[in-house]
Amino acid sequence: MSETYAVVIVGGGAAGIGAALGLASLGIPHLLVERGELGGQLRAVGGLLRDIPGAEEVEAERLCNLWRRRLRAEGTPVLRTEVAYVDVQPDPEARYALHLAGNETLRARFLLLATGALPRRLGIPGEDLVPEAYTLSTSRNPERFAGLHVAIVGGGDRALEGGLNLLPHARRITLITRSRRLRGRPAWAKRLLSAEHVTWRPETRLTRIARDADGTLLLTLAPSESPQEVLRVDALLLRLGMAAHVPPLGKALASALERREDGSLRTGEGGETSLAGVYAAGDVATPPPFRSVANAWAQGLRAAKAIALALWERQ
Ligand SMILES: Cc1cc2nc3c(=O)[nH]c(=O)nc-3n(C[C@H](O)[C@H](O)[C@H](O)COP(=O)(O)OP(=O)(O)OC[C@H]3O[C@@H](n4cnc5c(N)ncnc54)[C@H](O)[C@@H]3O)c2cc1C
Repeated sequence: MSETYAVVIVGGGAAGIGAALGLASLGIPHLLVERGELGGQLRAVGGLLRDIPGAEEVEAERLCNLWRRRLRAEGTPVLRTEVAYVDVQPDPEARYALHLAGNETLRARFLLLATGALPRRLGIPGEDLVPEAYTLSTSRNPERFAGLHVAIVGGGDRALEGGLNLLPHARRITLITRSRRLRGRPAWAKRLLSAEHVTWRPETRLTRIARDADGTLLLTLAPSESPQEVLRVDALLLRLGMAAHVPPLGKALASALERREDGSLRTGEGGETSLAGVYAAGDVATPPPFRSVANAWAQGLRAAKAIALALWERQ
């Protein structure tokens, strides 16, 4: 396959779907490429969403199903594969080459990166023993943590919310943070830390994860002002925040795309990046504190409009 499209959207989360529906309503032909399930991060949300315009509260899965139905109704073509690598070419009508997993290539005049964010990883020995630690939901079946000692690494909203969800179930919760300051909502921090069975280990780094024969996790902790020690826990949640995720890019593209300090792509009003013809929307283009479903959706719509205006201008 080596087809050329006016617009290719990479990523079928809130931003990519918002953009696809926006382009459909503007009559701009496009293709949406998604490597996993449509909905992106929403697939990991176990609880109810309470900050979606037009809904008092809604289950993430219901929202994903609604979006999928709308894409189908609009006739948006969805290609279920991974974009392995993106490159620039000289032809202005097919400027971007998207190399897909499986060696096929697509070409696009306009490229919209809506590739979201992925959990930040610790990069320590033993991390691979607990791949679920990054995604394990505490709102979906919190009873599974009943009677367990759970360690949570991270001090942002997701770490605190995880701890609060487990308060009625876990036997003991140990919150481990590198800093002395918690980044999450002060009210959540106060509620969590005031519980008797919660211990906070500030200025402490997790440096190694091992597993005992009986399944107990052995966490090597390095506090800043005391000797290294091993903490035995039954479960581990790694909540280190999410990092903007950009697919692998060719040299010319990688060096031309400007990023912020946090790694997110720098964009203008309509999602235009520093490279003509490349747009970005959603978490990949938003600094961490400002990420949300509504933001991603709105940025997708804005990028759709900006791309349409650019296309019409050239006609
Ligand atoms: C547990 C959790 C709870 C949350 N709770 C809320 C909440 O209550 N309210 C709220 O507003 N927000 C919440 N958020 C944040 C919200 O989900 C995100 O901000 C939003 O969904 C981001 O949408 P996105 O489209 O930018 O990115 P994503 O949802 O990350 O979608 C990106 C998509 O791109 C695909 N992709 C990436 N690379 C490639 C590639 N190379 N090829 C093909 N496809 C690719 C991915 O598979 C993914 O589907 C929560 C997030 C999490 C993880």
